Amino acid sequence: MRDIADLVVIVWASLFGVSWLWRVTDPDPTRGRVRLSQAEISASQEREPWARAQLAQLATAAGLRSVPSFGVANAGTYYIPLRHRIQVSRAYLARLSDAELRLILAHEVGHATRRWKAFARRSPDEEVAADRVALRITGSTPDQWRYAVESTGRAEPGQIVGEDVVHRASALGLQGESCRSSVPK
Ligand SMILES: [Zn+2]
Repeated sequence: MRDIADLVVIVWASLFGVSWLWRVTDPDPTRGRVRLSQAEISASQEREPWARAQLAQLATAAGLRSVPSFGVANAGTYYIPLRHRIQVSRAYLARLSDAELRLILAHEVGHATRRWKAFARRSPDEEVAADRVALRITGSTPDQWRYAVESTGRAEPGQIVGEDVVHRASALGLQGESCRSSVPK
């Protein structure tokens, strides 16, 4: 009997450990998703192949040896270093323009080029580094970056406001106050 009890505890502890590890490698899986219409959900699904193709192109442009995998996030967009994976919300897939979505993906590719640095710590400087890669591989201007950031705020109202936006904007030579809005991390 004692052995069975031990076994149950060991199995439970292992399952708990694995699920905990899985969760901590995903920066923010619990944030709610915004309410989308059925048409928007369909539009987001139809856009996935395009987004995957863009991701492959951007990864090559950034000099990555392997293209990050692509997944759908509950909200926002982020890179998961341990899984080398980029997740984008259905709201972004449905509501951002091609140029905006490309810039957002390019930012995450920027994180992927600094995979283990990004894994070690998430700092405003890592965000700026990812932004610079994004501008370089898309040939975008800082103003285009600002419009994309503002669009993400409109696409997902009520998203957590990124404290680092002002820092990132001024690092790109913009007036920071003009883009204090929601921003992908
Ligand atoms: Zn970021």
